[in-house]
Amino acid sequence: MSWGKKILFITLDGIADRPAPTLGGKTPLEVAKTPNLDALATRGINGRLHSLSLGIPMSTDVAHFLLFGYPIEERPGRSVFEATGYGVPFSADEVICATSFALVAPESHTLKIINRRELGLTAQEGKQLVEAVSYYKYKEFEFNVVYTKKHFGVLKIAGDVSDRITDSDPFYTNLPVIAVQPLDDSPQATKTAEALNEYLRWTYTMLNKLSPKVNILLTKWPARHRPVMPFAEKYGMHGLSISPKEIVNGLATYLGMDALNAEKLCSSEGRILEASLNCAIEKFQTEDYDFVHVHDLRPDVISHKKDPKAKAALIEKIDDEIKILLSHLKEDWVVAVTADHATPSTVGVGKAMHAGEPVPITIVGTHVLVDEVKKFSERATVQGGLGQIYGKDLMNILMNYADRLGNFGFRPRAVAQDTASYRPKTVKPLPPP
Ligand SMILES: [Zn+2]
Repeated sequence: MSWGKKILFITLDGIADRPAPTLGGKTPLEVAKTPNLDALATRGINGRLHSLSLGIPMSTDVAHFLLFGYPIEERPGRSVFEATGYGVPFSADEVICATSFALVAPESHTLKIINRRELGLTAQEGKQLVEAVSYYKYKEFEFNVVYTKKHFGVLKIAGDVSDRITDSDPFYTNLPVIAVQPLDDSPQATKTAEALNEYLRWTYTMLNKLSPKVNILLTKWPARHRPVMPFAEKYGMHGLSISPKEIVNGLATYLGMDALNAEKLCSSEGRILEASLNCAIEKFQTEDYDFVHVHDLRPDVISHKKDPKAKAALIEKIDDEIKILLSHLKEDWVVAVTADHATPSTVGVGKAMHAGEPVPITIVGTHVLVDEVKKFSERATVQGGLGQIYGKDLMNILMNYADRLGNFGFRPRAVAQDTASYRPKTVKPLPPP
């Protein structure tokens, strides 16, 4: 007997956009020819999704955390996912920050950022420079940095620490390095901020002697371990996430799902979504997975190049890769296609990275009430049968279409939530006397 349909959840990172003047007021998704995404929209129920609350621009890790049905209050912070994704071990007592090198110049009692992206460091140079600043002690605090890739690393702070502190990385050039500030009045936050500022100044002194390319370490996204209910326990499903981005691999691992890095699946032609979908289809057929998440990062990356036409061209390539799904769709699958957030490829007057508009969502499955929407786009899905939904709704909607939810209040498993799913492996049988 089947205990519910399988769920395939696809996030096309930042594919949603704003109307572009260079595209006659349409979005890249609207002008791109997407027969396969449109075929899914035509077969499915459609709507608009925001992972948290309308208008709030979301980062990839927060949006995915919410789309997997976890409440914002339980979020441990991005650097924990980053460390997990790179396999950097850390303890629950430590505060974790993502780090990157930058080149700064002193200017009017500040350290102004000259370069923080194209630093021209080889992996070996990056590693050597991280080693040069990898250990520091200030009062009761100890600092350890582990190299990850390019000019990035992970900083672990031990002591009487708090993660309630700000970033030092302003994210843009021609701005000063930010002094780390406490976010609350606790002595832990105040002392952690003070110690981290001392450490950052020390990296400036050390790196100035060693490299003409970079001379300071910047920190962002302070985080620490927070316990979450494992995905299998929460949903009674065996889950897998396939993504090319380490932070999403780390998030999935943190939630107790299996994680595969999509870069390792991809052939030389770079059809990474097709490779990931092929893998998902195979895993459904050959292994005991109930839920597979597939993440394609490319729409977000190209959006940051601020060229709506190039984004539309990439969307057509993605659409061609998603074609494989149409020929493999099974009656016992529920398939959702959406984005984690909108990423504008248009040039605005501000510094917007992501945008707070809702994104289109299409769900295909035997139980869905097929609506009149024939195109997968921001505008067309406004007319869809799902209406406006939020991250907190999504897993329940998918689980419901997958026939996996017991009635509200039924308690087949010892899980502290009111909607529970049945799965023989997670239900404890009563032994005979
Ligand atoms: Zn994203």
